[in-house]
Amino acid sequence: MATPTERGLLGHGRHLFGPEHDAFRDSARRFFANEIEPNIRQWEKDEAFPRELFKRAADIGLLCAGIPTEYGGMGGDFLHHVILHEEHGYSIAGAALEGGLTTDIVAYGILDAGTEEQKRLWLPRMATGEVILEIALSEAHSGSDVQSIRTTARREGDDFVINGHKMWVTNGSICDAIIVAARLDDATADARKAPIGLFFIDRREASGVTVSPPVELMTRGAGGASQAFFDNVRVHKSAILGGDAAEGLKNTLRLVTVGRLALAARMLAACELALTLTVDYCRDREGFGQRVLDFQNTRFKLAQVKTEITVGRLFVDELLRRGNAGAIDSTDASMAKLWVSELEARVMDECLQLFGGSGFSNDYPISKMYSFARLHRLYIGTSEIQRLIIGRSLG
Ligand SMILES: Cc1cc2nc3c(=O)[nH]c(=O)nc-3n(C[C@H](O)[C@H](O)[C@H](O)COP(=O)(O)OP(=O)(O)OC[C@H]3O[C@@H](n4cnc5c(N)ncnc54)[C@H](O)[C@@H]3O)c2cc1C
Repeated sequence: MATPTERGLLGHGRHLFGPEHDAFRDSARRFFANEIEPNIRQWEKDEAFPRELFKRAADIGLLCAGIPTEYGGMGGDFLHHVILHEEHGYSIAGAALEGGLTTDIVAYGILDAGTEEQKRLWLPRMATGEVILEIALSEAHSGSDVQSIRTTARREGDDFVINGHKMWVTNGSICDAIIVAARLDDATADARKAPIGLFFIDRREASGVTVSPPVELMTRGAGGASQAFFDNVRVHKSAILGGDAAEGLKNTLRLVTVGRLALAARMLAACELALTLTVDYCRDREGFGQRVLDFQNTRFKLAQVKTEITVGRLFVDELLRRGNAGAIDSTDASMAKLWVSELEARVMDECLQLFGGSGFSNDYPISKMYSFARLHRLYIGTSEIQRLIIGRSLG
């Protein structure tokens, strides 16, 4: 199995990053190697990672590194958020730590859409790891079709009273606060046309919030996603992200757009790691008197994988460059998410095949990488939904 040192060059040598990004990547990589990789098997057994992980990551400046210093961040840029996602992908423990530290993208969403008061309230505490904030859009009856959510927000004076049920809150069992999408129930007779707002709900202050243990998944990871129930949860109107409930759908789209691009970067990193691990394995493994790497079939398969990753890399890096300049386009982000999630599924399948039976064993990281790659075609919008969005751009 490749050690973190042997994987040292992954992610480096691209034209996108400056020395400050490389230094940040190095400390993120050391953090994964020292704090996460040695513990991941135990956390998988526990089906949870310690909440303290956020504090330890914050202590070395990994959280909210792209957030301006006035809001408690490190004053970096969008690429700092992306690097944290990429390092999930480059780590042999990254797949099992699926939700992991990726809540960073929620911080970016608050910076993008939040009011001044919200930025000052949430971002400094996210940067220190004191607050873990997740986002809850999906419901039992509504995932792809966000317009059909049933969670409601009833206006009462300066407050809103929230009732409903959310599925799939990533890191739900350890998060302190949730941004919840809820439909205003006082607006219009046609429920689908009523505005959808995004509401900050602080679990430590609000009463009426119940979060289930993580949902049992196809494969065991460290942590997971929970259901959340909201029973007459009262929040002040200042808890609406951006201050305007009518902007909820627009803000949701902006958040998921950034999330899709960051996920594409993470998945591509995982593909590069899979290729590296597979080349190492095939170099060491022998059969029929030769290295598995020297079978023509192996080289053809891995040549295809390398080519597809390289094509994806050029596209994704260009979008990251534009993203860092503040121009993230939702169609582009959908194309990146669609292309790389489908690529990742092919790459993991080809690579696992070359590990033979070992690939099906959890002694090799490719096994978890393969199973969690399956998730990536489904969440933050399925492949079909990405095609829908891209199709709309055709006019
Ligand atoms: C482990 C995990 C973690 C998650 N974390 C979060 C989270 O933190 N926050 C959150 O809000 N959500 C989260 N999700 C939810 C995830 O984003 C949704 O599962 C996803 O958006 C799909 O929604 P759905 O499951 O309701 O499927 P559905 O919307 O019911 O879709 C079912 C099928 O129909 C297809 N389909 C739907 N509409 C169309 C259409 N118009 N045209 C063609 N095909 C269509 C879909 O592509 C899919 O194949 C998570 C999910 C998982 C599994």
